[in-house]
Amino acid sequence: MALIVQKYGGTSVGSTERIKNVARRVAKWSAQGHQLVVVVSAMAGETNRLVALAKEVQAHPDAREFDVMVSTGEQVTIALLSMALMELGLKARSYTGTQVKILTDNAFTRARIMRIDEDRIRSDLASGCVVVVAGFQGVDEAGNITTLGRGGSDTTGVALAAALKADECQIYTDVDGVYTTDPRIVPEARRLKTITFEEMLEMASLGSRVLQIRSVEFAGKYRVKLRVLSSFEEQGEGTLITFEEDENMEQAIISGIAFNRDEAKITILGVPDRPGIAYQILGPVGDADIDVDMIVQNVGHDGLTDFSFTVHRNDYRKSLDILKPVMAHIKARDVVSGDTIAKVSVVGVGMRSHAGIASTMFRTLAEEGINIQMISTSEIKVSVVIDEKYVELAVRVLHKAFGLEQPV
Ligand code: ADP
Ligand code: ASP
Ligand code: MG
Repeated sequence: MALIVQKYGGTSVGSTERIKNVARRVAKWSAQGHQLVVVVSAMAGETNRLVALAKEVQAHPDAREFDVMVSTGEQVTIALLSMALMELGLKARSYTGTQVKILTDNAFTRARIMRIDEDRIRSDLASGCVVVVAGFQGVDEAGNITTLGRGGSDTTGVALAAALKADECQIYTDVDGVYTTDPRIVPEARRLKTITFEEMLEMASLGSRVLQIRSVEFAGKYRVKLRVLSSFEEQGEGTLITFEEDENMEQAIISGIAFNRDEAKITILGVPDRPGIAYQILGPVGDADIDVDMIVQNVGHDGLTDFSFTVHRNDYRKSLDILKPVMAHIKARDVVSGDTIAKVSVVGVGMRSHAGIASTMFRTLAEEGINIQMISTSEIKVSVVIDEKYVELAVRVLHKAFGLEQPV
């Protein structure tokens, strides 16, 4: 008998029919004698609908009230799934994050899980119940409802698996595993049987939304056995996240390509080239709790230089406002900025021992006439910023250049 945590995403619970399907799948595992904790997302589209409603009333919704509202989507699906399980003759109980309780910090809209009380879940499991938990939400010390950021149900699933020391955490979604790149963009993309934890962390942080990055961090920290699978297929091994590099059985140099359209670029022109300037520019941005991603400072000439960086698009306007007084203070010449950029990244642990990955990437993009605006590298990834309108083309040609397609 194993303790298994399963998480079903929005599409997988997108209608009552699909919820009944999920219930049948859960019942099968339960019939095999396993104990099950099931985390569900809101029905597909529901969280977006709630976000839009909030913005109709308040252009920048109050973060506490926003969380009170957007967390409701999951309260509907936990109850529906529990009912569907009962209809199949199983014992089931649903819990919201507050009821469990999933204790988080108080950073509304992007809270972090700090502790999970497992007593209630354990005693329900012991009495033969399937426990159904709302994804994406928690409660802070003061009793306020919090949410974990978009895609946060993955993190609820993995955090529960860690707290309960589950034998496996299964993330059921609308694709049958982690692919070499988003299969919606590149139909030739190939499912990976395994991907190392490090690679998955990079893929998630560079924009592959198949797993929320914090769920991957939890899996790494607590060594959760994590698998991504399809909720629509009966069979299938999905993709297993592994912790050993030599378990990268496919021995590929590049495992995948991630892309992200969520960033904006700001360039400050004619900045005095002297010590402390990077701090003067980025200090106030950081103080406003805005994360900066890529940073490039050009070689100076005539005592002046240009300074570019990227931020999340949601923080774009705010960053420009913050920079206005800074620009005047440091006497910068001008600012040019835009939010029609995209970041494309190739990821693979095999890159460590192979030179020439970056040059293959740059040559491939050059052959398509795609201009590279910024570059950043780490041991296992190379990222470039390009014009957003070329993102799909770039991903497709790179996927081909690195030989990632399905073998024919
Ligand atoms: P869920 O609602 O189940 O959480 P998501 O929409 O959050 O599902 O994540 C699944 C989607 O992630 C897929 O439909 C796919 O389009 C996208 N995706 C992006 N990159 C990848 C990748 N490398 N492998 C698989 N899916 C990916
Ligand atoms: N329902 C939330 C969202 O759409 C959480 C999740 O699905 O993981 O972001
Ligand atoms: Mg998701």
